[in-house]
Amino acid sequence: MNFENNLAFAQTLDQQDPLREMRNEYLFPQQNGRPFIYLCGNSLGLQPKVAKQVLEVQLNNWQNLAVEGWFEGNSPWMFYHKELKKLMAPLVGALPAEVCPMNTLTVNLHLLMVSFYQPKGKRFKIIMEGGAFPSDQYAIESQVRFHGFDPKEAIIEVNPKAGEYTLRTEDIVQAIADQGDEIALVLFGGVNYFTGQWFDMPAITKAGHDAGAIVGFDLAHAAGNVPLQLHDWDIDFACWCSYKYQNAGPGGISGIFVHEKHFNDTSLNRFAGWWGYQEEQRFKMEKGFIPELGADGWQVSCTQVMPMALYHASLQLFEKAGFVESLRAKSKTLTAYLFYIINEVNKQIGEEQYKIITPQTEADRGAQISIIAKANGKQVFDQLVAHNVLGDWREPNVIRLSPVPMYNSFEDVYRTGELLLTISQTLK
Ligand SMILES: *Cc1c(COP(=O)(O)O)cnc(C)c1O
Repeated sequence: MNFENNLAFAQTLDQQDPLREMRNEYLFPQQNGRPFIYLCGNSLGLQPKVAKQVLEVQLNNWQNLAVEGWFEGNSPWMFYHKELKKLMAPLVGALPAEVCPMNTLTVNLHLLMVSFYQPKGKRFKIIMEGGAFPSDQYAIESQVRFHGFDPKEAIIEVNPKAGEYTLRTEDIVQAIADQGDEIALVLFGGVNYFTGQWFDMPAITKAGHDAGAIVGFDLAHAAGNVPLQLHDWDIDFACWCSYKYQNAGPGGISGIFVHEKHFNDTSLNRFAGWWGYQEEQRFKMEKGFIPELGADGWQVSCTQVMPMALYHASLQLFEKAGFVESLRAKSKTLTAYLFYIINEVNKQIGEEQYKIITPQTEADRGAQISIIAKANGKQVFDQLVAHNVLGDWREPNVIRLSPVPMYNSFEDVYRTGELLLTISQTLK
């Protein structure tokens, strides 16, 4: 598409956008009586307007049914997670049995590593992306130590080439091949939080399996952002949070994926709890853990009803929008427009004031664009916020801007560029 850097053009794209009404389902934060242009859905998605109502429904259930709520009412809590599984599955390309909402993300990363990082003999290493989100680094480090290894020997990080910001698939594949039969686990992010790079998940999975390793992904920045086919890509396990692109609220419940080929594998360790026990037999309260079949068998504690109610409401909005396919179609154009607009700002300034470190190729990114300002980065960011554009700042020097197809408009993107130019000119 030939983009134009003017308001009328952006508004025309909005009029043609089949998802333009979806933003009315969300609440935008305000400053000085005006709503923010919210470009931070990569960090915390906006609140759906129905959120208060669905919480109230569950508070009323608790009030009126109390303990009977587990088995009585419109959607008994005992089986509530099944409603979510149906809606989570299409979002990540899985069978409903392969997914389950539970806990929070880093906790699930640990629980899944208990099952899927089982080092044996010389096969003890984990390959991951350099510059992964800190929580993942800490989780992996501590798991490796837990098994008695030195993180310096057991963790192999794949880094960008000198002078580059993103990883090349061939370098990842090569690193996996180089470590070969010493790799127990390949554990990557789907989309990197800092650069916004969407890794070639099928290629990484194939390389890991060719080396005889298990392959898992942290999809915190991918789930709800880019289309995923976890089942068909033969990924062994994955987990994600629901509060970024999936708008389920701060501290929202996490989702896990376990490929069905592992359902009957009794060699997998688990840290068990009663909620993962076979559903039919759970309340016999007998000794000896027998897991429920599928991802549900990884549950530990009882259903977190309030966070699940929020996630359920949000997932219904994804269903209404047509899940990832229709959102992705808009997302590609919306993010390409931001790419174009930032380059227009550079042209108007007369130099590359804002370096985009996110891959240019659509297939290698989701909604997020990360930029590094040549000068005054933090001041530019603060000025954007002061003028009602909310992205986020990541140390040491990156501004992340994520136009989210669910609730951002082309006008949002145009106005962000207009403001960025004004700010750059006044700070000069
Ligand atoms: C956001 C994010 C987390 C956060 O983990 P929580 O356990 O939900 O606090 C972890 N890993 C990655 C890659 C993230 O992007």
